Amino acid sequence: MLTERMKKLIYEIPKGENHIHIEGSIPPEVAIRLAKKNGVDLPWKTAEELAAHLRQPFASLDAFMESDRMVNSVCQTEEDYAEVLYALAKQAKDQNIIYTEYLLDYPLNEIRGISLETVVNGYEAGRQKAMKELGVDIVFIAGIDRSLSSDMSLKFIRDIEPYKDIIPAIGMDCEENGHPCIKHKAAYDLAKEMGLYLSAHAGEDPNAGDMAVQNVWDAVDKMGCVRIEHGVLSIRDEALMKHLAEKKILLTTCPTGNCPHVFPRLEDHPLKFLMEQGIPCSISSDDPPYVGDLIETMLRTADALNLTEDDIIELERNSLLYSIRGQHHLKEFDAWVEKWKSEN
Ligand SMILES: [Zn+2]
Repeated sequence: MLTERMKKLIYEIPKGENHIHIEGSIPPEVAIRLAKKNGVDLPWKTAEELAAHLRQPFASLDAFMESDRMVNSVCQTEEDYAEVLYALAKQAKDQNIIYTEYLLDYPLNEIRGISLETVVNGYEAGRQKAMKELGVDIVFIAGIDRSLSSDMSLKFIRDIEPYKDIIPAIGMDCEENGHPCIKHKAAYDLAKEMGLYLSAHAGEDPNAGDMAVQNVWDAVDKMGCVRIEHGVLSIRDEALMKHLAEKKILLTTCPTGNCPHVFPRLEDHPLKFLMEQGIPCSISSDDPPYVGDLIETMLRTADALNLTEDDIIELERNSLLYSIRGQHHLKEFDAWVEKWKSEN
């Protein structure tokens, strides 16, 4: 049971969030409105029906991805993408998130024939508006759909080159099972040459077997990743945990998103254990409509894992310290923490 003081800390602390997929996070009311506007026939007719579908526990990462692709099909024009982005930024503002990193999974749009220009221009318009009107600082990560071929991921990195000021980072996501990170090494080599920040989803899906741990090793040692999204299955390999701690590789954990398909219950999630190994960790919601927003994620995780105030402060500080370009918020963050400690 969380204390009132802990709840207050979680609500009020200035937050960073490193790991949100825009395409998986379209608020249900926005998705239904856009579906009607664009004549997209979704199986859910109201925001309530869609919200209930998204909050059901998904049996696997693959089942989740199928749902993700369907909801995402409502976005078609630049204005749609801008609207989604601004709606997400509003949710961030409401949670006192000052800095946030959004993965944009363009290939999910590309397969529907939407141009990269439409998607990036739309998201960028939403980002600019959010920055100006809400003061939320947003940075984009280009997500490579790892289920695609290595030639396609290489082409994707070439295609985003003109946008690298808007999208300064790359990630890799979608189904881990059957799709090793190393398959996309050429794309990562090119991204490195372009000066992009390198990250990848890895060590996320237990159905991937030994490949899940190998993916973390490969991403860090062979592909130059400076952080890993999730990475929670690193607990299976002591040498790997030591390596992550020594190299100060951030794991952007999403505890509510991992249950039940990685760990049966939130109480079994290894976030606290990973922190105790000296590995920098941050906490994110991954896809809020499916698992709850960041505040809900933090409240539930703190309760399930008995996190302390210092744990919460460390997780949030890490989300800025190890971020792509949010370090300039640390001054404000540290001042807030100092004040919190002196007043409470
Ligand atoms: Zn993710």
